[in-house]
This record gives sequence, structure tokens and C-alpha cells, in this order.
Amino acid sequence: MTLTAGVDIGSLTAKAVILSAEDSRVLGSIVAPTGWQSAQAGADVLARALQQASIERTDIDRVVATGYGRVSLEDADERLTEISCLARGIHHLLPEVRTAIDIGGQDSKVITLDETGNAGDFALNDRCAAGTGRFLEVLARVLGVEVSDLGKLSLKADRPAQFSSVCTVFAESELVGMLSAGESRENIAAGLSRIIAHQVGTLLGQVRYQPPVALVGGVAQNEGVGTALEELLGVTVDVPEQPQTVCALGAALWAIMM
Ligand code: ADP
Repeated sequence: MTLTAGVDIGSLTAKAVILSAEDSRVLGSIVAPTGWQSAQAGADVLARALQQASIERTDIDRVVATGYGRVSLEDADERLTEISCLARGIHHLLPEVRTAIDIGGQDSKVITLDETGNAGDFALNDRCAAGTGRFLEVLARVLGVEVSDLGKLSLKADRPAQFSSVCTVFAESELVGMLSAGESRENIAAGLSRIIAHQVGTLLGQVRYQPPVALVGGVAQNEGVGTALEELLGVTVDVPEQPQTVCALGAALWAIMM
């Protein structure tokens, strides 16, 4: 049996996926905070995924690392960009998708894909927290809710709050003002999803965007963001079952092909 591993070390979370090459079955999948030592975080998620799959490191034929911390993983046999891994992972899960949106902790990106799963254009925002997971974490805290509850809350909105700024700092003071003016947490949460969608819309304007569209990354777990994107784009936005590990899965798939 040929076994591979993909390790995606992101700015906020590290992920590892163990794959059986013969049937592309996921045998282990772990997500954990990156913290301040990306090398250690990558090694830890790989060790935990191996444990989950009940195999040893020596059973793995190839490890491919990706993500901003990919150079730090000493154990990697190969290193690939997130764009290549995202494209491979998405195409495997949803082969019909032609545009993938990945919203992570500190960046967001959009890529186009052809029918064979090769990445075409891409656009990236890694300069500004607006439109990223970090933005939602900061504002969820001010709102007094867990970031994992924002999505469900936003789906109960009756009139999404209108923010005049997408900047984290300005949105934070606007949010405080809304709360004291009696605006509901539901409407505010939906307003935050709309900010994320708006920022993605700007990125989509920079590529030859085509539906079908998929949303991945940690923020894809926020149901409100998918809904806000569907409203903005007027198309269905697919979210795969494990959206946070799509890049790690793509890395493990590349490891089979190398
Ligand atoms: P990166 O790969 O850039 O390190 P991720 O893709 O793991 O980041 O995304 C991290 C972000 O995902 C967090 O900032 C948070 O906003 C969001 N997130 C994480 N878990 C959840 C959850 N259960 N529900 C909603 N959003 C989540």
C-alpha cells in the first residue's frame, strides 16, 4: 500500500492529511493551532495524523509540505505552493469547480481552475486583515461570541447591519456603536459576513472568474460567509465537507503523483 502525507502550515493553523494512494482514502486528518513555532506545529500535526491512521512515519512514501510555514518542516520530501495544493485538493473533491475561494486566518485568495484541475489566474490579499479569519476573530470577541458561532447567528438576521468601513479597526468601533444603539448580534454577524464577501468580490474582479464556485479554508466553516457570497455573486457556492484541510489534502495528492 502506498501512503502519502500532506502538511499545510498556515499562519493560524497547521493541518496534516494521510492518504492511501490506491483509493485516495483519507486515513488521518488533524488541524491544530500553529502558535509561534511553525516547525513544531507541522511536526506535531503530522505525528498526530500518523497516530490516527495507526501507522509509522516510515510507512509514508512521501511527505509534501505547503502553506506559509512549509520551509520550516524538516521532514518534508517536497514543498509546493498553496496555489498548486489548493487547485489539486479542490479538483479532487469537486471536479466541476472553476473558481476556488480560500479564506484563511491572515489571507484570502481566489484561483481559477481548468477542467484538468490546473490552476490558472489567482489573486491574493495578504496585506490587510479585512476579509480574513483574523478579522472575524477580533470582531467576534468584541461581539461577545465564539468565532465558530458567528455563522449560525448571522443566518438568523432579519436586516444585516451595514458597515461603512471594511477596516478592522474602524469596523470594531462601528460595531461597538451598533451594539450600544441596540442593533441585534444576529444582524451584526450577518454584516460581518457581508464584509468578507465584499472583500472576496474585489479579488474575484482580478481573475477570469467563472462558476461553479467553491469556498474553502477555515472561514468556510462560517455558514454566513457562504450565504453572503451566494447573495453577492448570484450563484451557488459549494463548501466541501472538510474545508479547512483542502490544501493539505492537495499536498498529499501531489505526493502520490511525484
Ligand atoms: P490558515 O490556514 O491561514 O492558518 P485557516 O484556513 O485554518 O487559517 O482559517 C482560520 C480561520 O478560520 C480563523 O481565523 C477563524 O476565523 C476561522 N474558523 C476556524 N474554526 C472555525 C469554526 N469552527 N467556525 C467558523 N470559523 C472558523
